[in-house]
Amino acid sequence: MPWLALLMLWVLIPARGAAQEPGSPPVLFSDAWIVDGTGAPGYRGDLLIADGEIVALGPVGSVTAPAGTIRRDLGGLVLSPGFIDIHNHSANGIFEDPLATTQIAQGITTLVVGADGGSPWPIADYLTRIDASGPAVNVATLVGHGTVRRAALGEDFRRTATDAEIADMATRVEAGMRDGAFGLSSGLEYDPGFYSSTGELIALARAAADHGGFYMSHMRDEEEGLLAAVDEAIRIGREAGLPVQISHIKAGNASVWGKAAEVLARIAAANEAGLDVLADQYPYSAWQSGLAIVVRSRMFQDADSVAAGIAAAGGGARLQIVNFEAHPDLNGLRLSQIAEARALSETEAYMWIMSNGGSGLIGHTMNDDDVDAFMASPFVMTASDGGIGGAHPRGAGTFPRVLGHYVRERGVLTIERAIQRATSMPARRLGFTDRGVLRAGTHADLVIFDPESIIDRSTFVEGTLLPVGVESVWVGGLEVWSDGEPTGARPGRALRHPE
Ligand SMILES: [Zn+2]
Repeated sequence: MPWLALLMLWVLIPARGAAQEPGSPPVLFSDAWIVDGTGAPGYRGDLLIADGEIVALGPVGSVTAPAGTIRRDLGGLVLSPGFIDIHNHSANGIFEDPLATTQIAQGITTLVVGADGGSPWPIADYLTRIDASGPAVNVATLVGHGTVRRAALGEDFRRTATDAEIADMATRVEAGMRDGAFGLSSGLEYDPGFYSSTGELIALARAAADHGGFYMSHMRDEEEGLLAAVDEAIRIGREAGLPVQISHIKAGNASVWGKAAEVLARIAAANEAGLDVLADQYPYSAWQSGLAIVVRSRMFQDADSVAAGIAAAGGGARLQIVNFEAHPDLNGLRLSQIAEARALSETEAYMWIMSNGGSGLIGHTMNDDDVDAFMASPFVMTASDGGIGGAHPRGAGTFPRVLGHYVRERGVLTIERAIQRATSMPARRLGFTDRGVLRAGTHADLVIFDPESIIDRSTFVEGTLLPVGVESVWVGGLEVWSDGEPTGARPGRALRHPE
């Protein structure tokens, strides 16, 4: 029966490359608890979408739906703009898992890659590949300072750059911006950004500023040198004349516990002085990086330097080894456990891992009071710093964890504020005027969730467990997540600056 085979083929081919098609029926979401992303109080209302856009919204019964409209009674579930993750590491994972299951399960509808100084390159080719692959979510990118620095300096990057090399890098930043990047990212604790001068960063930030971009930084130091690093980021914004976004803001170890208020005071003062400085945060008291980051001197086989680094982190019990390719059986263990199992000191165990190719690291070194202070700040938005397949639970849990743990269970912030942090704040930073708020004429990127049950389930042992409570997610007017699984629809596309 060929017609049956044809029908099955039609059913199996995922919808891709297009948002809700013109002429397809409008959808009315009725009896929703509408939280519009602006921070305004929620209210019981209806919202109508058609042709991939929001057409109208208002109190229950106030929205007139044309004949043929599909009705979805939400029974009081929260309806909000789709979440925009401004720091996401799915640049490559999105091609392996275009349904982006761990991302849409959280309510993410747009993700921004290219953070920490490392971006796809060339930008134009990458965005073309995104469009060709047709993911479930929208994808935007930054241009990475480390990426252009590596291109300009090659392997000879362990030094300051010459003026000619900085000019070369600036040309590449401009090319990336013209190709559609939204700004410049830096990763100053990593190679090759570690070796750059502030002057180099100001020059390259100016190149991004010339094209309407912003500067986003994984700062030089999140530990002993935290306050100086914040000052450097603000200075770059002031001297280059562009907005600043401090990535994954934190007080990274015991030496700076309790410093959140001082960090936030510096950010507040910068804004009062007319600068535009914001930060983002993932809702966990543990970070993820490489094991190398523990030893600031980079003398990984010098016992005194290693011992000092481990002590500053609060001891080996706070350091969880992940992505240790030479000995994957040890992944998930703390450095203290590995030392004990191999009859080594923690310093020796560290040096042994580094001499066997190194590993990833989850550092359980933050203080919950600092995490809460950043969570409550009006200058801080939510971003996962995770992505598809990440080992850290933030990759699958960030947005539901803010709404479940910090809003419902602990009352650190209101639901309106939590949604603003996930929608209009990143939208404004990216320059989107048609995403991140529920308003007639904006894209129909939507999240529907149960505020009584939403919560993350991913853990530091099982980092990719899906959250619960996100009932339905829409991208460009098409439903991509429903009943606990992807629908198979892939309406996402590359977003290019300026859009
Ligand atoms: Zn980072």
